[in-house]
Amino acid sequence: MTVDWTQRGPCRTGDPDRFFVDNLTNDAAAALCRGCPIVQACGEYALRHELYGVWGGMTRLRRRAIQAKARTAAPNGPQKRKRKKPVRALALLRRSERLIAAGATVETAAKRLRVSRGYLLAARARARRHLAGVAS
Ligand code: SF4
Repeated sequence: MTVDWTQRGPCRTGDPDRFFVDNLTNDAAAALCRGCPIVQACGEYALRHELYGVWGGMTRLRRRAIQAKARTAAPNGPQKRKRKKPVRALALLRRSERLIAAGATVETAAKRLRVSRGYLLAARARARRHLAGVAS
């Protein structure tokens, strides 16, 4: 897709490779784009879409630093991946706790819950880890 403003950049002429040199400093990158009438639009576009090269007077590393800072400054702080609630493991923990409290062994509780002993133990451990994570 051709974006209209891209037709106005002075970098359209000359060797494009000079914008894709990995070890450029930010000063050298800014020098390449100095005087460009669309430096703002180019930089905003690159922050959203471009991984490599110099865009908007910024090197790849400079853009990554800006993106990281923006993520950290987001209202809720850096976004953490939400873990799914282990619904089945929590149910097995709760039901097996009841059975064990009533005198059942882990083996008989597993049999009653129609799972293997190993599966029940793993589910209980997983549920406990989840509950410990929720509590902290
Ligand atoms: S800011 Fe730099 S990379 Fe972007 S169009 Fe202008 S000269 Fe090209």
